[in-house]
Amino acid sequence: MKILVANIGSTSLKWRLFDFSNGQERMLHKGGFERVTDYSKVIEDCLGQLQDAGHIASEKDLAAVGFKTIAARGVTGCVRIDDSVLKAMEAFNGIAPAHNPPYITGIRLFSRRMPSVPLVALFETAFHQYAPEAEMRYAVPDAWLEAGVRRWGYHGASHKFIAERSAQLLGREDVALRAQNLYVNGGSSPIKKPSLRVISCHLGGSSSLAAILDGLSVGTSMGLSPQSGLPQNNRVGDIDGFAVPFVMRTLGLSLDEAERQLCKEGGFKGLSGVSNDIRDIHNAAGKGDAKARLALEIYVANARHWIGAFLAQLNGADALVFTAGIGENDATIRAAICANLDQLGITLDESKNIQTRAQESVISAAGSRVKVMVIPTNEELVVAREARRLLENK
Ligand code: AMP
Repeated sequence: MKILVANIGSTSLKWRLFDFSNGQERMLHKGGFERVTDYSKVIEDCLGQLQDAGHIASEKDLAAVGFKTIAARGVTGCVRIDDSVLKAMEAFNGIAPAHNPPYITGIRLFSRRMPSVPLVALFETAFHQYAPEAEMRYAVPDAWLEAGVRRWGYHGASHKFIAERSAQLLGREDVALRAQNLYVNGGSSPIKKPSLRVISCHLGGSSSLAAILDGLSVGTSMGLSPQSGLPQNNRVGDIDGFAVPFVMRTLGLSLDEAERQLCKEGGFKGLSGVSNDIRDIHNAAGKGDAKARLALEIYVANARHWIGAFLAQLNGADALVFTAGIGENDATIRAAICANLDQLGITLDESKNIQTRAQESVISAAGSRVKVMVIPTNEELVVAREARRLLENK
């Protein structure tokens, strides 16, 4: 069974082709285009590359195309895409303005190009759908809640990958299986005691932390939109809701301009004034740039804030896992996040931390009560696995 996973950005299309034949999981091909203006053409080029490489004779050899979609009104989990799903995504365009519109356009083009191939959406909100209401609700009027104003949580594919993989690495196949079957049986797979408590730190171009109890998300740092939580690359992260009407009145901003600045002028870029890439900010901070240094400190403080919240919620942790571009590669940020937490059971092994880049590794000291781990994430594989499970469970 071959499943193509297409990652659609506002000006990019990237893909990976997975093969699940003979009980194995193999990535056969990956590729992509940046600065895309004509999505129909790049879909053709993608299929052409898969044919030239001998992986498919035509699109009919694809069992499905999977998409890591973001949010939709009244729809989450892993679902076959039809017009009602696209309409539900459209209804949440305002919640994910950078992501939903290009996905909707791209999916419509895939559907036109290959009407007989199942198109499958795995929503980034899916992993958090079973989290307790008390963690997910805002204190808003009922009408706001009915409109969709609550915490949804994102990076679900990545956090689910971490839930499964960390459980395997910690010798808890029962918990890994529970996480695996989440969208098939709603988390009813049996698990043994004691509970497994994991804090997953997805730190990258956008960042979120999740509290994971026995393979299920019970808390997330991301709220209504993927613009929330930690400072993101250009997106502001959490602020007081009253800030928006306040700046609109005080600075005379229109609603559209306020929204643009929330998405484009905040986060690492807004704080540092240097770049939205943490590597550039480290460089500037190293040369004495005070704004760049503060940007790093604010990012670290935000991550620690959520770690503290989740340690309280989970009554400690068995593992603290770092993943994604920054989490996997940036030993300086990992060290700053873990500094001075020994009273909470977290102590890094400094040299293991420094040596670890984009590989699975335990980076805590031998006596650390909480295992600190680096686990490279694989979001596309999760999309392909879930699409396969959906097709097989039909
Ligand atoms: P992601 O969104 O997971 O692809 O992460 C992308 C971000 O990770 C980039 O914007 C960088 O800020 C950061 N990143 C990627 N590679 C490295 C690296 N080698 N060292 C530090 N940060 C990195």
